Amino acid sequence: MTLFDSPNFEGHEGVHAFSDEKSGLKAIIAVHSTARGPAAGGCRMWPYPTAEDALEDALKLSRAMSYKNAMADLELGGGKSVIIGDSRTQKTPALFEAFGRAIEDVGGKYWTAEDVGVSPADLAHARKFTRFVAGLDGHPAASGDPSPVTAEGVFRGVRLCVRRALKRDLDGVRVAIQGVGHVGAYLAEKLHAAGAKLILTDVNTEALRRVAAATDAEIVAPAAIFDVDADVFAPCALGGAVSLDTLPRIRAKVIAGGANNQLASPEAGRELFARGILYAPDYVINGGGIINVAGEIRALERGEAFDPAWVDAKLDRLALTLEEVLDQALHERRPTHEIANEIARARILGAAEKRAAA
Ligand code: NAD
Repeated sequence: MTLFDSPNFEGHEGVHAFSDEKSGLKAIIAVHSTARGPAAGGCRMWPYPTAEDALEDALKLSRAMSYKNAMADLELGGGKSVIIGDSRTQKTPALFEAFGRAIEDVGGKYWTAEDVGVSPADLAHARKFTRFVAGLDGHPAASGDPSPVTAEGVFRGVRLCVRRALKRDLDGVRVAIQGVGHVGAYLAEKLHAAGAKLILTDVNTEALRRVAAATDAEIVAPAAIFDVDADVFAPCALGGAVSLDTLPRIRAKVIAGGANNQLASPEAGRELFARGILYAPDYVINGGGIINVAGEIRALERGEAFDPAWVDAKLDRLALTLEEVLDQALHERRPTHEIANEIARARILGAAEKRAAA
């Protein structure tokens, strides 16, 4: 299959591949849409088995960012970058400096931030060569790590879904969290504080033990997380957790978590709807992090300091948007992900039409 035939390519404005022999950088920057503003989305570092896997991931993630930014009501389009490599062994300052030069080459159409495998410290190296980097520490406009804000948005979304689907509050609700990295760990803390009973898994056993000890949680093996007796399943690891294979095993009545691209296929979304599971569309519920990043981009562009109140107002608005999606899905008796996709596409198309008319 060629790039242009890939179903994930559809709608992309541009896809840029970069390699730098000296530092070993192999990166892809995918720009899905700039209709609402410059494309924004994090950078993921992952040991993809093939370049094609990396490309497909970048395409899927960048389109999701267009939808996410539209649903978060941000004046940003959607893009994403991936660096092929093992973040535990292959990170160097030179690698991220080369990545910074790659971003600069895209000419301001793409703003990056952190995602899986990439930290604010890594991005500081990229920043030496381009200003289109957000999610940094140490300057007045800086928003820092977006994960706590992502987790706060997910926490509010889980609470909303539990109230709607289970007609109760979080106290005593059993939540299974897959992945206790940045987002999963903050989410676990918040849910624990609200009285939820947690069942956790992670392939990183050290992180798993640490988070479980801090939140009185039960630990299960990664493959067993789909079989546990939980009210809520919160995917907070990588994409594709909800599939036609895992769905028959999932007993939760709510699926709501921080991971991107949780549905392995659109069929999985329809199947969970048929099973009566309430699904909070991933790119709606996990928009907190990009809202935080958008706060930094806004501050940088205006030459102002970061404004947490602006971020909080956008988080409140995001919760209302999730509620609107759930209401419309209930009213039309249709899957939540289809409703969210339609609203996001309409917002992007509306912006594109406005831009064309201007
Ligand atoms: P992270 O790398 O800190 O955490 C991911 C965790 O998942 C790691 O601890 C990893 O060991 C674990 N994991 C990987 N594969 C697993 C498996 N098969 N079973 C169990 N655990 C597994 O990343 P993060 O920043 O917490 O992001 C988590 C997810 O949320 C990703 O999908 C990311 O794209 C998405 N997301 C993150 C943010 C953010 O602000 N960081 C914002 C929006 C969406």
